[in-house]
Amino acid sequence: MTDQHIRTRVAPSPTGEIHVGFMGTLLKNYAFARKHSGEFILRIEDTDQEREVPGAVERLQATIRAYGLEWDEGPDIGGPHAPYTQSERLAVYRTYADQLVTQHHAYHCFCSKDRLEALRDAQRSQKTPPKYDRTCRSLSPEEVAENLAAGRQSVIRLAVPDNQTVTFTDLIRGEISFSTSDVDDQVLLKSDGFPTYHLAVVIDDHLMKISHIMRGEEWISSTPKHILLYQAFNWKIPVYAHLPVYLNPDGKGKMSKRKGTVSAQVFLDQGYLPEALLNFFMILGWGRDDQRELMTLDEYIAEFDPKDMSPKSVVFDLQKLDWINGIYIRQMSQEALQTALDPFIPAAFPREKLSAVLPLIFERLVKLSDFEELTSFFYAPELPDTTEMLKKGNPELVRLQLSKTQEALTKLEEWNHEAIMTTVRSLQEQHEWKKKQYFMMLRVASTGRSVTPPLFETLEVFGKDETLERLSTAAALVT
Ligand code: GLU
Repeated sequence: MTDQHIRTRVAPSPTGEIHVGFMGTLLKNYAFARKHSGEFILRIEDTDQEREVPGAVERLQATIRAYGLEWDEGPDIGGPHAPYTQSERLAVYRTYADQLVTQHHAYHCFCSKDRLEALRDAQRSQKTPPKYDRTCRSLSPEEVAENLAAGRQSVIRLAVPDNQTVTFTDLIRGEISFSTSDVDDQVLLKSDGFPTYHLAVVIDDHLMKISHIMRGEEWISSTPKHILLYQAFNWKIPVYAHLPVYLNPDGKGKMSKRKGTVSAQVFLDQGYLPEALLNFFMILGWGRDDQRELMTLDEYIAEFDPKDMSPKSVVFDLQKLDWINGIYIRQMSQEALQTALDPFIPAAFPREKLSAVLPLIFERLVKLSDFEELTSFFYAPELPDTTEMLKKGNPELVRLQLSKTQEALTKLEEWNHEAIMTTVRSLQEQHEWKKKQYFMMLRVASTGRSVTPPLFETLEVFGKDETLERLSTAAALVT
């Protein structure tokens, strides 16, 4: 690394919910800036006003903060290069677009929508790539001036040079080259005065002194246009690293809404911990030899280097995410877990029982949202299935077992799991009932489920009255 000052950025377009792929990219930009004591910038790329979704800017900022990450300069907090929202920078883009025209790196194009559409149709039927045919590139300065004076609508297009090779070195992928004959004379400034992404991104990355651009690999094909712009302006080209995309959990295709959750916020809402998600993003595509899977953010910041990343697309392995989330949950103190669980506790749950219930289900929590399913039988009794209760037994035996158990438990003065266990075990020994059959029957009868937390602890939480009531309800089912 040179002694260059490191500045990174993410530049979301507020067109919807932010994708987990975006959060993975953000994490890398954040970590790299932190590692080198540089700055990490948030910029809003809202030049495509038609696709803008109201409230998306606020939501994306809230989501990033909910992951525990923050930016050093951005739309809400400002910074030395404010504003950080592209729709507030239109005059800047206009100035630079005009400069490009003056220097013959760009030109006015007056072609109508209809003409462009007809051109595209013709290219489609000839199966040639859609490209502007450069009609307006040969207009004389006088013709351009006349058109402009007559108030004809125009866009500004990049004058892509002929027969050149554009090459850049990607930190992850090495050298990448494009022939300019494959690059379209891209629109840079639209007729409504808004820049396109390509113009705005280059101007802003330059003015905001971004040293490293780490973004998704889907932007590789845009990079030659950006390089041509840097060259036209005679600006220093930043370092590029195009990060691998995430594939759907089934390994097929780029991660997409149609195949499941992709929203960074929805993963939080489902009860994945932000720390666990970040850890998961850290190891996706981690190209180092040590196959570490658990890492804190500080460790990651110390070690992350885009050069170590693999260019291969990575499967968004939900099983691995579940595993990591479970580990993070089990590392939490009871107090921290209670706080994190708060939004996931249904209104019907008896809060006074939380500290007693939590240790019983703690081991089986994969996501915080599992809490409801794992605990609902504590407050919403489920009717036991008689077939389950009768498994390996018969009605007569089960009736006897239930009534003996009720009788013995009624006599218990102290209601705690040791006392319950001693009572139930001595009954089993006294009657020589088969352990497996009897305990399972008791579990199903009292909880309505065959998989539950440890039985005696569960009965302790139910309390004596409720346990006896559940057992008599169950007994009435065995006829
Ligand atoms: N506005 C682009 C996006 O929506 C930014 C791409 C880039 O990082 O250059 O992701």
